[in-house]
Amino acid sequence: VFQLSVPLNFLGSVYRELRQSLLDMETLFNLQKVNVAIKEVPNAKPLELTGGGEIVFENVTFAYNKERPILQNLNLTIPAGKKVAIVGPSGCGKSTLLKLLFRFYDVQEGRILIDGQDIRHVSLASLRKAIGVVPQDTPLFNDTIEHNIRYGDLSAPPEAVRAAAARARIDHIISAFPDGYQTMVGERGMMISGGEKQRLAVSRLLLKDPPLLFFDEATSALDTHTEQALMQNINGILKEKARTSVFVAHRLRTIYDSDKIIVLKEGKVAESGSHSELIDTGGVYSELWSAQETLFQHGTSEHEVAVEDVL
Ligand code: ADP
Ligand code: MG
Repeated sequence: VFQLSVPLNFLGSVYRELRQSLLDMETLFNLQKVNVAIKEVPNAKPLELTGGGEIVFENVTFAYNKERPILQNLNLTIPAGKKVAIVGPSGCGKSTLLKLLFRFYDVQEGRILIDGQDIRHVSLASLRKAIGVVPQDTPLFNDTIEHNIRYGDLSAPPEAVRAAAARARIDHIISAFPDGYQTMVGERGMMISGGEKQRLAVSRLLLKDPPLLFFDEATSALDTHTEQALMQNINGILKEKARTSVFVAHRLRTIYDSDKIIVLKEGKVAESGSHSELIDTGGVYSELWSAQETLFQHGTSEHEVAVEDVL
């Protein structure tokens, strides 16, 4: 996708870094064009995660087009080392939060801080290296499964690739393919399901092992059983390493155990707190929870009650 005309093999680690950051951007942008308006300040310093990775959106206002504001004076805190969920109707700006965090766009008002540093003041490479994401729509590269996972860490040995896939609960599926990890995927490769694609993306992220992790509807294509099992593995890793993580999800059963749940509505935080706090409050979250649980108890796929139906 990125055609580079210099003999890159001579550039060694520089190439590796460059390739890594291009790949991260590619992944997030879903192969769209990179926003060239975003520039580094002169002598930008690397981001320093001295506080364990606390993310703060402070009075953030943002619109893609002036006529249609997406976020308005948004204030939210994602505490260091905690698991945070973001819930809200589609189109309310959840994925936009992630794009702003990566600085694919800059905020129009307010600021975004990571461990107290305004993200506009740090180097882009250090910012994007610190954050890992399973995007809403994961692109696969025209390459082997092994390489598709290894994009998370180009120096990883095959065993590490395999361990990441096992944690993402896809190792058994890959191993059953005739060509195993050497199976070609992507547009010109084997067709794999949406759920398999999502698990490859999770494998890639677990291999990258960044300090800040963002899962944007990362398990939406999985059946409930596989989703629960995968979430259990992810939760174990996050807890063990005390990573800051953000989950955008529609099925509340996947996120109800978060340290903090933030409900977004019309560009603002409608409510936030732990599951039990939000249930006690009796607001939109508790309404959505009851609706999804009722369907779940009746054996119906619980995500049929969409966030939109309640908010
Ligand atoms: P969510 O992830 O909560 O479903 P998004 O953050 O993707 O919502 O989008 C918020 C709103 O911004 C939507 O109305 C969407 O159509 C709009 N939007 C998203 N990306 C762009 C873009 N690049 N240009 C213009 N509008 C956009
Ligand atoms: Mg989204």
